[in-house]
Amino acid sequence: MRSSNPFVIGVNGLLGRTGVTRSVTVIGPMEVDLARVEGCGPVTADLIIEATVGGLLVRGEARADLILKCNRCLRAVDFRSASPVSQVYGDRPDDQIGGIDDEGNIDLSLVIHDELCLSVPLLTLCSEFCRGICPMCGVDLNEGTCPGHAETTESPFAALEAWLGASLDLAESTEIGSSSS
Ligand SMILES: [Zn+2]
Ligand SMILES: [Zn+2]
Repeated sequence: MRSSNPFVIGVNGLLGRTGVTRSVTVIGPMEVDLARVEGCGPVTADLIIEATVGGLLVRGEARADLILKCNRCLRAVDFRSASPVSQVYGDRPDDQIGGIDDEGNIDLSLVIHDELCLSVPLLTLCSEFCRGICPMCGVDLNEGTCPGHAETTESPFAALEAWLGASLDLAESTEIGSSSS
């Protein structure tokens, strides 16, 4: 009985025929179990399965469009994942990945899932200029400012800038007077 899991492939025709290869493309939905990933579109994997002595070697690439979160402001960020896949399946099943089951199937979902997870960057930013959110009131500082919180938390030099700004204002007012628009 074949599983309805699209990442399970029957390999009976390859077993024991060392050197014979078969190209397969598998497409299916996948839940990515990683906190940094908000969503995952359909996964497409183009693979070559090669019969080896005592098993199979699966090589290729898995691709998916992921939705990540900006580390600074939590906005959704699109990310296209393209991960190399290389996995050996043998008679002696790997605890994690599994092997060739009694019916001659291999399950590629775990290895594809793990490769997708590895492709997710540790740091995701919506823009290198992302200003983040105000830790005091939660306002997205890319969209507006919160008077009072933003400047003090934005930069370690904010206090210095504020001091310099005040000095300049003072210098201007003493030189030119207090005329302003
Ligand atoms: Zn951001
Ligand atoms: Zn604020």
